[in-house]
Amino acid sequence: LGGSIAAALARMGKATVVDDKVLAECLNEISRALLQADVRFETVRDVKANIKATANLDALPAGTDKRRVIQKAVVGELCRMLDPGKPAFTPTKGKPSVVMFVGLQGSGKTTTCTKYADYYRRKGFNPALVCADTFRAGAFDQLKQNASKAKIPFYGSYTESDPAKIAVEGVDTFRKEKCDLIIVDTSGRHKQEAALFEEMRQVSEATKPNLVIFVMDGSIGQAAFDQAQAFKHSASVGAVIVTKMDGHARGGGALSAVAATKSPVIFIGTGEHIPDFEVFDVKPFVSRLLGMGDLSGLMDKIQDVMPVDQLPDLVSGAFTLRLLYQMFQNLQNMGPLGQLFSMIPGFSAQFIEKGKEKEGQAKIKRYMTIMDSMTEKELDNTNPKLMNESRIKRIARGSGRLVKEVVDMLEEHKRIAKMWNKLPLNNRKLNTNSRDS
Ligand code: GDP
Ligand code: MG
Repeated sequence: LGGSIAAALARMGKATVVDDKVLAECLNEISRALLQADVRFETVRDVKANIKATANLDALPAGTDKRRVIQKAVVGELCRMLDPGKPAFTPTKGKPSVVMFVGLQGSGKTTTCTKYADYYRRKGFNPALVCADTFRAGAFDQLKQNASKAKIPFYGSYTESDPAKIAVEGVDTFRKEKCDLIIVDTSGRHKQEAALFEEMRQVSEATKPNLVIFVMDGSIGQAAFDQAQAFKHSASVGAVIVTKMDGHARGGGALSAVAATKSPVIFIGTGEHIPDFEVFDVKPFVSRLLGMGDLSGLMDKIQDVMPVDQLPDLVSGAFTLRLLYQMFQNLQNMGPLGQLFSMIPGFSAQFIEKGKEKEGQAKIKRYMTIMDSMTEKELDNTNPKLMNESRIKRIARGSGRLVKEVVDMLEEHKRIAKMWNKLPLNNRKLNTNSRDS
């Protein structure tokens, strides 16, 4: 479990003086983690250099938490690298748009096309799918199956072998049917690469897409840059979707794809099914990239939030209300919530919406008031049946809160506890002993 950035930062925190040697060690650790996450060597080198430049440790006043400064610099740098500076094209309801999907065979294009269509249909669009993959036998059937499942109209052919021709036919058909989002799925495999890219050029020229989306498998690693660049040259890629982020991949290849296409990541795929699709959010993505998504690393980050003397409780599997209370208490002493919150299991978007940190603070205060009216037994409780109606009513009365608010808080606690309890126990145990192993 060693070698995580969090561990490096923790080590640094222990050093009484953060000198150049410690900083270099820390940066090396960060590089290792990024390379392990499939970030391109050139990118890692740049990150390192930029952090050295931005985290000017010598200039910091005494007493500054240098760990935090470096950590912030790393996160900031990676976020910056994932932002190409201009947003991707987004379709407008009622106005016909053509979106073409490109990417190598197996990257997840056909699956993702349907997810994308379904996402926009839920927003009130009238999408349609066109299968321009004439290379792979069964490609049309696959699209047909996916589209039918999602109840989205589709177009394709079993006999026509010219992808550009089918693409145009499909786009024209759906234009007439007043579809406002026409999605063209393409092939990704050819005997010769040159032929594939020529085909992409032709389909793109024929359908004049408003947006070309490069779909990449989150685990392709160092190959991402060249792949993305090759597609960019044949069809002008304007956005990236990273698939298979439900697996072990940390998705570092996305940084390369953004660099190669100068286009943003817009969604990530998190499973084989249609709803397994998320709008790309840079912060959690970067946390994962840095290996902070797993608890072992995370614990180092949030040790200030978690009451350390309560950790044995977690090891035994009980995320009590008292533990939640103490987390809140510590959080309140730490200033702005946003960034840190997104790193704590159970706390991210569901608890506090982005940009609504103020409301989040108020919510925490409210919850703490409610908990202040609980008995010791209730705070330490591990029996799900304990909190009956009369207790809830008493707590509501005592705290001057509505019964519904008490119930909401208990639900929220349950949700957070459930997430914590899903985290591997050995990680939790590990963190009570040594965090540096
Ligand atoms: P294409 O060749 O680019 O059209 O790729 P497909 O859409 O046919 O997908 C290839 C395989 O990857 C299929 O087995 C999909 O179910 C799977 N797949 C696609 N996206 C995801 C994802 O986000 N997560 C997982 N686990 N599997 C995915
Ligand atoms: Mg396909």
